[in-house]
Amino acid sequence: MRILVQKFGGSSVADLECMKKVRAKVLAAHEEGYKVVVVLSARYGQTNSLLERAYQWSDEPDLAELDVLLTTGEQESVALFAMLLKDAGIKARSFLGFQIPLISDDAFGNARIDEIDAASLRKALETYDVLVVAGFQGRTRDMRLTTLGRGGSDTSAVALAAALGEGTLCDIYTDVDGVYTTDPRLCKDAHKVDRISYDEMLEMASMGAKVLQIRSVEIAEKYNVPVRVRSTFSNDPGTLLTKEDSMMESVLVSGIAFDKDQARVTLCDVRDRPGIAASIFSPLGEAGIVVDMIIQTASRDGVTDMAFTVSRKDLKRTLDTLGKANVECSHIESAQNISKVSVVGVGMRNHSGAAGRVFNALYKAGVNLIMISTSEVKISCLVDDADLELAVNVLHKEFNL
Ligand code: ASP
Ligand code: MG
Repeated sequence: MRILVQKFGGSSVADLECMKKVRAKVLAAHEEGYKVVVVLSARYGQTNSLLERAYQWSDEPDLAELDVLLTTGEQESVALFAMLLKDAGIKARSFLGFQIPLISDDAFGNARIDEIDAASLRKALETYDVLVVAGFQGRTRDMRLTTLGRGGSDTSAVALAAALGEGTLCDIYTDVDGVYTTDPRLCKDAHKVDRISYDEMLEMASMGAKVLQIRSVEIAEKYNVPVRVRSTFSNDPGTLLTKEDSMMESVLVSGIAFDKDQARVTLCDVRDRPGIAASIFSPLGEAGIVVDMIIQTASRDGVTDMAFTVSRKDLKRTLDTLGKANVECSHIESAQNISKVSVVGVGMRNHSGAAGRVFNALYKAGVNLIMISTSEVKISCLVDDADLELAVNVLHKEFNL
């Protein structure tokens, strides 16, 4: 049995006309001889409007009940789409997450998949040619409904492909025709890449190139699921996400990612003594605030400055938490008008000189660097919001993308 998982996002199933285009993709795969597992998101805007409704009803909606509400978005999609398939003479049925079952933990609103028993799907594929599965949802072991975090249908699709076993392909359909070297809205030379490694995609996705939910890429890498990102509205082969190979390593940089959702906090004149970093970052960790770049300046006269970045939405909570923690420092500054730009490439693992080229190119363009951080496959710089577009374009050019 050759199985193909095809995932379609909200804009692909927005209305009847879109769903008919999706049906054509599914029929084509069926005609090629695949048994198809279609994973759908809620119709465009539906999840947001359900969320909005919940917040009209309650200032602090119960998280478990919120998930019961949100899962209806995907339930609507799969029911409507299964009807369309049946009208085209296809043997199809819908599956909700709990019917598979897709078992998750009980972190309502952002649950993690524990286990998928794919036996029920395999069995159903003996009778049906297409299964239409609701993305984004699962259930706990004690039968409460859960959702997998915004964009979670990507993760459902890749996890289902992994559970269905080796050789299962996973196509993620969206409204762009693949993964780009950077955002075409910011850089007119941006272009689609044919292949990208899991590690590069993780960096691109985690830094604002929001084509795929990050968790779906982690699962794809862990279970070595080949994933193609492609468009519902064209026949482009899209971008293949795959294991790193020697051809990829010979390319130094494969993309420029950026993230405008950055805020910087600086604690000035922090007493330089053991335990001080812990006294700052432990309370933030306990408050569930994700800290990104951290810089501690060299000590002078027993004091240092400590700067770090958080997501803008977390800035107020960060300042509140630090206020309560009574950190030994003279004062705390913060700024929101900053962005992060990153060059990403597995080639940087084995080749030196990338950092120098990044700094030099930005210097020549007159872009000031506020903070710098690096990993094996990326170099990130924090810049002023006003410099972001220039920085992206300069780096795109510097690395001949
Ligand atoms: N409908 C959910 C959302 O809007 C899940 C998804 O689309 O992947 O986040
Ligand atoms: Mg999405």
